[in-house]
Amino acid sequence: MSTNVVPGSFAHGRLAGKNAIITGAAGGIGLETTILFLREGASVMLCDISEPALASAVTKAKNMAPHVSGRIDTMRCDVSKEADVAAVVAKLDEWGGVDIMFNNAGIMHADDADAVDTPEKIWDLTQSINVKGVWFGSKHAVLSMRKHKKTKGSIINTASVVALVGSATPQLAYTASKGAVLAMTRELAIVHAREGFRFNALCPAPLNTPLLQDWLGDDQAKRHRREIHFPSGRFGEAIEQAQAVLFLASDEASFVNGLDFVVDGGLTKAYVTPEGPPTEAPP
Ligand code: NAD
Repeated sequence: MSTNVVPGSFAHGRLAGKNAIITGAAGGIGLETTILFLREGASVMLCDISEPALASAVTKAKNMAPHVSGRIDTMRCDVSKEADVAAVVAKLDEWGGVDIMFNNAGIMHADDADAVDTPEKIWDLTQSINVKGVWFGSKHAVLSMRKHKKTKGSIINTASVVALVGSATPQLAYTASKGAVLAMTRELAIVHAREGFRFNALCPAPLNTPLLQDWLGDDQAKRHRREIHFPSGRFGEAIEQAQAVLFLASDEASFVNGLDFVVDGGLTKAYVTPEGPPTEAPP
């Protein structure tokens, strides 16, 4: 991790007493968010399609957040199956209903390509997880919030910067799915605002994940060709996305609704020349 990345170590009880569901909780952004939420006093239900990954995620979360007041539990859940999502939300009835829903699970399939080469089954799979999963999560979170007479609630849906700017690496199914997440989030934000339920979308730029590291390998030139597009000269870290999610989930964001919350180090605002951004601060 870069030295200027702030670790999520300060805890002020910003989510004290709140119940949160996080989908894709075993992955990079989901796990970092789980740890932050626990440290800030929330009870967290971790959901993921992979049971082994969930087991190791909960162990890591307990190690990173050892002294917490909230509950922590896991449930296997395929977000593309409405019955799975409904079962997770029903489980939170025992906790007092959902206050925070982080619809974060998503895939980008290796066979995703351009308009000509994307297989239809990859298109359908991507939309069913990335789009339908967000719909099911939003729907059942609203139903739980209503059932438990919540007067406020926060739903955060993970999109991507590719919903805002096209990707030069063809991944049409993924790009279309993330555009749909943004459009859906805006409409949900408007429709449910008077119930006190806020919907915001997180738009991460490519992150420094193990997947990225595997893809880059030891090829420093390949890494540099990617990094120069970031004004900061580096990829983001999952914890930097989690910090943004924490803000959106908390009451500090009480008037933040329908936002495309772009956490990209300025990537989508930059015109980068072939030389890249300055590598040193001016004197
Ligand atoms: P990740 O692959 O580390 O985590 C994703 C998690 O989702 C995994 O644990 C996986 O098992 C789970 N998952 C996959 N299919 C599922 C399903 N059907 N039901 C439930 N869980 C399922 O990825 P990440 O980087 O943490 O990504 C989280 C979100 O951020 C995704 O929506 C992704 O599209 C988005 N995103 C990531 C990046 C990036 O560079 N990593 C950039 C922009 C957006």
